[in-house]
Amino acid sequence: HLDVGDAFDLLGHPALSATPTGGAAAITNGDPATTSEASAAARQELIDVLSGHALLANCEGDDPQTQWAPWSVRYSGHQFGNWAGQLGDGRAISLLSTPHPDDPTTTYELQLKGPGRTPFSRMADGLAVLRSSIREFLCSEAMHALSIPTTRSLALISLPKLPVERETMEYASVLTRVAPSFIRIGSFEALNPPANMFFFGGGQQKADLDALRILGEWGARRVLKLEGVQWRGEPGVDGPGDAWGKELVYEVARRNARMVAGWQAYGFMHGVINTDNVSILGLTIDYGPYAFMDVFDPLHICNHSDDGGRYAYKFQPSMIIYALRSLLNALAPLIGAEDALGNKAVSPGWADTASPEQLQEWTARGLALAKDEMERIAEEACAVEYGRHMHARLALRRFDADDESRLARPLLDLLRDHALDFHGSFRRLARLRPAVVRDEAALEAFVGRLLELCPEPERLDRARARSDWKAWLEKYAARIESERGLWEGVADADVDAQREAAAKTANPRFVLRQWLLEEVIKKVETDAESGRRVLRKVLHMACNPFEPWGAEGDESDESLLDTEVKEERR
Ligand code: AMP
Ligand code: MG
Ligand code: MG
Repeated sequence: HLDVGDAFDLLGHPALSATPTGGAAAITNGDPATTSEASAAARQELIDVLSGHALLANCEGDDPQTQWAPWSVRYSGHQFGNWAGQLGDGRAISLLSTPHPDDPTTTYELQLKGPGRTPFSRMADGLAVLRSSIREFLCSEAMHALSIPTTRSLALISLPKLPVERETMEYASVLTRVAPSFIRIGSFEALNPPANMFFFGGGQQKADLDALRILGEWGARRVLKLEGVQWRGEPGVDGPGDAWGKELVYEVARRNARMVAGWQAYGFMHGVINTDNVSILGLTIDYGPYAFMDVFDPLHICNHSDDGGRYAYKFQPSMIIYALRSLLNALAPLIGAEDALGNKAVSPGWADTASPEQLQEWTARGLALAKDEMERIAEEACAVEYGRHMHARLALRRFDADDESRLARPLLDLLRDHALDFHGSFRRLARLRPAVVRDEAALEAFVGRLLELCPEPERLDRARARSDWKAWLEKYAARIESERGLWEGVADADVDAQREAAAKTANPRFVLRQWLLEEVIKKVETDAESGRRVLRKVLHMACNPFEPWGAEGDESDESLLDTEVKEERR
């Protein structure tokens, strides 16, 4: 009879700790060292709970204070730009929501993905296959290690006796993921769907504007914890309290803008930025056909079913803005009504007696009030955060207004024009000694090593690539030289080494690439024993992407994997 605390103890609580530990592998590899505290029976019980086959002990009983009931939530959304009607957690079941042990003001929700059917499964089975669970399990931890906001993974359970029919026969698996909340933009859209929108099989959805108020107030107050708002019912607050609708939208905009800036800076492509996959907390959520960039190509599309390239790398920031507009559309009447009340929160039943004309007027008022400002906030937050990431990736000391146009963008143009590996190139630039540009032979050699990062060297225009790179490197080296005095407390002779060390904390040595995921998945599917070992190792690398893993001086991903995996790759 496990309780919540036991579950966390057994798991080593990795998702709730500040640094990724990959403790979740305790479940996947059954390493006795990590489960020594628990009896085999308790461990089995935990596995049963985390695979959706048993309830936590306190799910039963009559005491509402201690009783948990698992839940799934309804949401709607726009998919590929079209209203998709009701969707909901078709294969996600939340187990509990619990305060962080070190920060009781923040609660965390534990959610199983793929344990079976829910009221929102429609015609589908509610299951997830091992391949997709491994992809989400590893990538959410990899993103966290890159400081990109994301839901976390706590455990991965494979169910090799439960076959699942997809294109081929596969096996079920359940991922436990963790976040303060899994509420999406689509959760708001479900409560105020676009008017007159019918969709196949679903009819028209009805608005529930009071539920919209309740969800919004809860999200703004408990999840986003908006500051500077006087809340209804707080001590000393009489009446309805301050308006919060506009601030909620702005905060969701800010957070998602920072998230997508991280995606762009680290070449991450989500693949399905439908509004039901955009968290109000600005967390990367729902890892599907995602990919990290190999050769830098701004038009790269990682989702095979995205024919038009709507979610190509380059368009991700504008697709986040699109999703934010959907959130604003849902909340616009409430924002307009708050404004009409003189910036006070709307009260329960606020829209019950409103005529359609009144609602339309509030909606127009809310949009007029908040749309431009929301987009300005998102664009600014994205630019600032992207600039911060690129500043770190280039290991600069000063912030110059034209860093993006003078250094970052021309570098990306070079990577694109000469089809060089994105992450490999950044990692190699970390090693640049600025004096190299004054020594023709050394500069030639450095450029030569960069050009090795073109996976299709026969297509490389070497003469042009060399002169382009030399020009950029001279500019970059001059900038680095001009910053020598800004490394406070570092002796001049040590500046280059310090700069390299700093650059290496922002440019991952390990990247969770597609080929590598394929290797891991194949390994786990064919041989559970060695599969677990490889999974554990890759998880460890994903959680610690800046550390040197292989032989000294060998910076390639390949050197990081088990020899057995490398052998197979050949
Ligand atoms: P996604 O494209 O993964 O974001 O999913 C879109 C919608 O389909 C969401 O409502 C999911 O919960 C639902 N869904 C996806 N896969 C399944 C499945 N195997 N069983 C039930 N619902 C699913
Ligand atoms: Mg989804
Ligand atoms: Mg999905």
